[in-house]
Amino acid sequence: MPHADLDQATIDALAIELRELLGADAVSDEPQALDRASIDGSHLSPVIAEQLPLGRAQLVCYPATAEDIAATVGAAVRHGVPITPRGKGTANYGQTLPMAGGLVVDTSRARKILEVGDGWLRAEAGATMIAIEQAAIRSGQQVLQYPSTAQSTVGGFVSGGSGGTGSIAHGMIHTGFVTALDVVHAVPDATLIHVEGEATEPYLHRYGTVGVIATVTVRLEPLQEWRAFFASFDDFHDLLSVIRAFPELEPTPRLVSGDLPTLAEALPADPAIFPGRASLRAILDADSVAAATALVEAAGGRVDDVREGAQACIKLSMTSYNHPIEWLQKAYPNTYFHVEVWGDAIIDRIDELHEVYDGGMLHIEAQQGRPIGMLAGVYHGADEVYAGLPKIEALGVGWHNPHQWYVDYEPAATIAFAAETDPQGLMNPGKLVAPGTFQTGSQM
Ligand SMILES: Cc1cc2nc3c(=O)[nH]c(=O)nc-3n(C[C@H](O)[C@H](O)[C@H](O)COP(=O)(O)OP(=O)(O)OC[C@H]3O[C@@H](n4cnc5c(N)ncnc54)[C@H](O)[C@@H]3O)c2cc1C
Repeated sequence: MPHADLDQATIDALAIELRELLGADAVSDEPQALDRASIDGSHLSPVIAEQLPLGRAQLVCYPATAEDIAATVGAAVRHGVPITPRGKGTANYGQTLPMAGGLVVDTSRARKILEVGDGWLRAEAGATMIAIEQAAIRSGQQVLQYPSTAQSTVGGFVSGGSGGTGSIAHGMIHTGFVTALDVVHAVPDATLIHVEGEATEPYLHRYGTVGVIATVTVRLEPLQEWRAFFASFDDFHDLLSVIRAFPELEPTPRLVSGDLPTLAEALPADPAIFPGRASLRAILDADSVAAATALVEAAGGRVDDVREGAQACIKLSMTSYNHPIEWLQKAYPNTYFHVEVWGDAIIDRIDELHEVYDGGMLHIEAQQGRPIGMLAGVYHGADEVYAGLPKIEALGVGWHNPHQWYVDYEPAATIAFAAETDPQGLMNPGKLVAPGTFQTGSQM
């Protein structure tokens, strides 16, 4: 359970110590700063939005280096103040909300790219994924993957994210993307602890419950010539009939997204996205564009544009994964929710899947193996959302419930590890619950 908010005297004492450590402009208890530090992307879930506010920061600080992050954590622990780490606050499901109040450690000023080597890059936690990709490109390399929230931080991505552009070839963040971390445990004499290889795994996708990540080393690969590829179809079924062939193109695409016309129309206006047409958008190696064009045309579609350049590809990335749902919600305020789904059945049983929820609409991301997607529906209350989950499962479709903020990746191991790294239970309180307390997803 989250702690109750701390008394003001304790917060004031911590504020004095942090101002001495970090400088006066790196610590704030101004209401607007506290408000900004107390929101994330939870608006994407109407189920969570109905429960807001779930917590409010009492103090926020902005350490500018990895060492300052360590010093900040040590000070907060000595005062017994809960610590919620924060990057850009784009986490969709409440992971970044300071549910016990206390201190929010905003890492966005600790954003230096520290070193770029052959096959790797080391950056402070607050470096954005765009900055990392750009630094990699300058060295003739590219990052293995980045989320559709490309402006988010690397610390936030590896702590709260899953995958994105690049995941078709490289899987999700747990599959060798991170090679080393400097982490800070929640102890009074906190220092930077260096971990490498498999020892990084217990810190990934743990929402900062086992420590604060201060630097991240990610793997790089040789730069490819990417193209932003836009195609469209009269009918979404035609798009689905061909989308499984895309991840098999050589070289492997970086991203392949598909949308029904209503979802596509909600995306930012683009001359290559047409009203009334299903949209397929992909980031393809230049050498595979001809084969992709043949696939589209054989399925009755047409290629509307092929663009060059990193900017065009990053822009296309921002219409992938959860972004179409966010754009849909902007186009139709207070209307839609979504559930994450996966498996071949999302294609093979698409009409039945669409019928599970009123206004059902699939956004699909092609992957090697099983496709994944976001099933949107018109929101009529949480009960109806949950009533749909067994129906989804009965179709042979895997699902994940995005309307909860608990660590649901290896929860038992995370709780055990947190007991070592955070003995006072101060790290991002409220995000760890015993496995089985909630049904967070299907086993498929
Ligand atoms: C529209 C939309 C689209 C999205 N698309 C994707 C996507 O394609 N792929 C994907 O994986 N995710 C996606 N997300 C989720 C989220 O945007 C990403 O995971 C993002 O990379 C998080 O980075 P951030 O800097 O915003 O982190 P935050 O939201 O600030 O933090 C995320 C989590 O990590 C913790 N944390 C932050 N920094 C640290 C640190 N230094 N040390 C330890 N813990 C820390 C926070 O407490 C929180 O629990 C999307 C979200 C939205 C709203």
